[in-house]
Amino acid sequence: MKKLIYFTVLNLVVLSTFSQLPGSGISLESNVLDGVYIQEHIPTKRVVQYPHLREADVMWGKRVWRVIDLREKMNHKLYYPLEKLSDRLSLYDVIYYGAIDQGSLTVYDLNGLDLDDKFRFPVRPANGNISDDDKSSYKSLRDELISISKMVPKAEPWLTPNAQALDEIPISQWLSEKRATPFASWAFGWLSRGGFGTSSFEPFEASLLHLAWNQAVGPQAESPESWLVTKGAGEVAKILGEELKDDIELSSPVQEITDGQESIETFYGFGVNKTVNSSAVIVAIPPALRQKITFSPGLNGEYRQLLQRSPMGSKFKVFAVYAEAFWREEGYCGLGRGNLQILEEIADSGPVESNPGIMVSFVAGNKAAALNRLSDTEQRRLILEDFVRYLGPKAAEPLDLVVQRWIDEQWTTGGYTAFRTPGAWTGFGTTWQQPHGRIFWAGTEESTRWPGYFEGAIEAGIQAVDRAAAALDGGGN
Ligand SMILES: Cc1cc2nc3c(=O)[nH]c(=O)nc-3n(C[C@H](O)[C@H](O)[C@H](O)COP(=O)(O)OP(=O)(O)OC[C@H]3O[C@@H](n4cnc5c(N)ncnc54)[C@H](O)[C@@H]3O)c2cc1C
Repeated sequence: MKKLIYFTVLNLVVLSTFSQLPGSGISLESNVLDGVYIQEHIPTKRVVQYPHLREADVMWGKRVWRVIDLREKMNHKLYYPLEKLSDRLSLYDVIYYGAIDQGSLTVYDLNGLDLDDKFRFPVRPANGNISDDDKSSYKSLRDELISISKMVPKAEPWLTPNAQALDEIPISQWLSEKRATPFASWAFGWLSRGGFGTSSFEPFEASLLHLAWNQAVGPQAESPESWLVTKGAGEVAKILGEELKDDIELSSPVQEITDGQESIETFYGFGVNKTVNSSAVIVAIPPALRQKITFSPGLNGEYRQLLQRSPMGSKFKVFAVYAEAFWREEGYCGLGRGNLQILEEIADSGPVESNPGIMVSFVAGNKAAALNRLSDTEQRRLILEDFVRYLGPKAAEPLDLVVQRWIDEQWTTGGYTAFRTPGAWTGFGTTWQQPHGRIFWAGTEESTRWPGYFEGAIEAGIQAVDRAAAALDGGGN
């Protein structure tokens, strides 16, 4: 959720005391001069106090607000470091720790689009009465996960030190061996069911190695979900489809791919099969669906085993449409997370500058299967009950409630993406990304950067084209 955060010059002065001044050129550990001169300027620099200003002396005044866009190069020093260092925090971390951990900083909301600058809407972080024990249990496990993830080679996770042991242990078992508190266990469950956009599995379905790989290839500190696509993600497919319409045949799934001596023949369509001949083929569908295609010659057995250990996550996406984004009027940004019966997360997904108000949520993991067994009316009742828990009684009657059951879509079969079951990486991982003759693999699951995201799908596509070109004629054509 993007939020413009205004803070005063006074706050900046207070905040600057969080980070230490750079060294003076003398190593603190050894007291040795580490450089060619003693740096006196920065360590001795002091904050200059504003002189007292009499109101009667003010002839004219103007308040200047600035939106600090951390994506801009000149602001990168405020954006980095992504993970806190002993002597440095990013601006986001400074605000986060001031507002959430220390309670020493008040963040104000703009109240939707009214751009209210009167400090009327303090954002009160609701910590849900999380105890210190719960916080420290979660934080120490999170730190351990991050340090394991730093040892994971992104393209070869099976080569991680101690990979076998890490791949044998399901996340749930690791949590119980580490005596995670119930809150920390839930928080890791939330992460694995979808908090990481690269994942969507129950903590008992995947290994610690797979979770660490998720963190390595999609580091959450880089805020991967800070952009909202105007009109929704479906627009991307529509725009691409418009550009490529002469080359796309809809409702014509590929059934068979045969590599003959001369060329590769691809059979597609329902009923009357159509064919296309080519020198190479790129298959850009999720691993589980590749098993629906008949390959000739057949796929390598080890690779097939990997495909069978790469199921899609269970996921529904839910949209509740309201006449107005009433939560914005009440000073809320609309982001919520909690261990509720069905919806573990909600986010404002509506148009920024107009109505209607749209709340998005997900049903993930085994909750999706359990919900799927109920009638539509019962599903609607349970989903709305949770929206009300997050947003209050106004959420009970949306104009529309759309439930997209990805597990029911036969050409996708789940979401957000595929995962690997325990033991899959170390048992069969070496076949991952390996072409089958002149057949190359794409799709988001093939990426070593942001798999599970659109970004991963694009990177994997580029990688597959490069590999196919290199294999055909050394990349010259
Ligand atoms: C609920 C949900 C929310 C998500 N949210 C985000 C998000 O906020 N940000 C983000 O970056 N990503 C998000 N994702 C993930 C994103 O949608 C995927 O990473 C991305 O779509 C993957 O692209 P792809 O091209 O690899 O595969 P797909 O988009 O699955 O495309 C594969 C295509 O192949 C077709 N196909 C299947 N079998 C055959 C066959 N035999 N012959 C021909 N065609 C076939 C399918 O119909 C499909 O159109 C989300 C996913 C879900 C399910």
